Amino acid sequence: MEELHCPECDAVIYTRRAGVCESCGKALPESFLFDEHQTEILNTELDHAKAALQKVADESDENLPGGFSTEMEVIDRTGPTEP
Ligand SMILES: [Zn+2]
Repeated sequence: MEELHCPECDAVIYTRRAGVCESCGKALPESFLFDEHQTEILNTELDHAKAALQKVADESDENLPGGFSTEMEVIDRTGPTEP
């Protein structure tokens, strides 16, 4: 993630929630705060996307076209349970 720097003193901005530069106390541009908000939204969407992908992966497990993971599962299933 790219760092933000205070436009006034060029200090790295770690906490955008405060709305001010921790170094010089200058109010941060709205875009900085907006960016953090956007990041949270994106992270939430990313989590949802990951969850959705995982769900699809789980459901389509049987339909995988001979992928590596499927082969590993076959080995895993046939290995220890082999008579
Ligand atoms: Zn500053």
